Amino acid sequence: MRVLLTGGAGYVGSHAAWTMHRAGHEVLVFDNLSEGHRAAVPEDRLVVGELMDRSLLESTLRQHKIEAVMHFAALAYVGVSVTDPAEYYQNNIVGTLSLLDAMRAAEVNRIVFSSTCATYGEPEQVPISEEEKQSPINPYGFTKLAIEHALSDYSHAYGLGYAALRYFNASGASVDSPIGEDHKPETHLIPLVLQVALGQRENIKIFGDDYPTPDGTCVRDYIHVDDLASAHVAALKKLEPSTALKLNLGTGNGASVMEVVEACRRVTGHPIPVVMEGRREGDPPELVADARLANQTLGWQPKYTDIESIVASAWRWHEAHPDGYEDR
Ligand code: UDP
Repeated sequence: MRVLLTGGAGYVGSHAAWTMHRAGHEVLVFDNLSEGHRAAVPEDRLVVGELMDRSLLESTLRQHKIEAVMHFAALAYVGVSVTDPAEYYQNNIVGTLSLLDAMRAAEVNRIVFSSTCATYGEPEQVPISEEEKQSPINPYGFTKLAIEHALSDYSHAYGLGYAALRYFNASGASVDSPIGEDHKPETHLIPLVLQVALGQRENIKIFGDDYPTPDGTCVRDYIHVDDLASAHVAALKKLEPSTALKLNLGTGNGASVMEVVEACRRVTGHPIPVVMEGRREGDPPELVADARLANQTLGWQPKYTDIESIVASAWRWHEAHPDGYEDR
């Protein structure tokens, strides 16, 4: 299938691009390279452009006879979304509406959308099922939820087939392709801990050890990016006009911040000193997916189900690329 991946030079998008590429699909990446990396995209498969450039999007869709879109392009720093919401609403909502317009004009009516467990806010029930009320607690989550609503309305009115895939904590790095995680600035736990093992940081700060969890640190569901990528491929196969899929993507297993640090110690052999800090604003104590619906609907199973194997894949990338990609 001919698929356009917006944000396909970014972390999750590039893993999906390579997975699709290896599976024999014709992939084309559309990315403004603000966060993404040219080197993460399969050769000759990149169009550099802005989501707000509706006419470039439309001509790209038409020229390459694109049959479906995977939409990863978004700003995704929760903290910045609080201090600079305008950029988030503009890029994540207005940018996506521009994409949806271009798709309608070019008669492309299938889309897989990167949504997030942040749309649930502070859930009442953990593990979190798709039935949980979506009540975000930050602008990032609101922008993603707004697009889920738009997709639902467009599906109803215009026959758009869509899958909104609600990622839990994307992590790890591909074992088959020359790509991994490189955010600047880095804010995510696993790469930050691995930077300590690389000697780039003295310690890892743990944001809160007084949560109502077994060891007092926050619990998250870390899902390998290659497993996210394979779920995208499976979701795409299910899309027909008016299909509406809303699915959690996680392993169903929680790991606390301390358990992540311990896994990193085992994998790297480095003692990784920790410093206890206060809580980070907006962090729910526990986010773990009930991923049974994705399993049943897509026939999808994550291959990586334990935190140590995820960390090991990330470590292979970070050891080989201590400064990330070489393009900046
Ligand atoms: N965290 C931490 N120290 C850090 C970065 C993150 O203790 O330097 C914690 C954070 O509070 C959260 C978990 O690690 O409980 C995962 O955070 P991350 O930013 O990786 O992902 P999020 O869950 O916010 O999407």
